[in-house]
Amino acid sequence: MRYLIFIISIWLIYRISKSLLRQKQAKQPKSNKNTPLKNTVRCAHCNLHIPESEAILGNGHSYCCEKHKQEHSETDHID
Ligand SMILES: [Zn+2]
Repeated sequence: MRYLIFIISIWLIYRISKSLLRQKQAKQPKSNKNTPLKNTVRCAHCNLHIPESEAILGNGHSYCCEKHKQEHSETDHID
């Protein structure tokens, strides 16, 4: 009788872990769809990545702040 209980509990653990794994796998592709990557641009002066909406554009480049835009044009970089 003890042996039977042992077998049943093992089987239960197996079933539970299998269903948990299935839930995890089913959730993964859904969460990837719901979190689209934000468009980021690189500051031409300090290489910092910033959201496109927050970037300051100028001289054909994007910058993280107005200060870097000025400093970059002053140093006269050629990419
Ligand atoms: Zn910068």
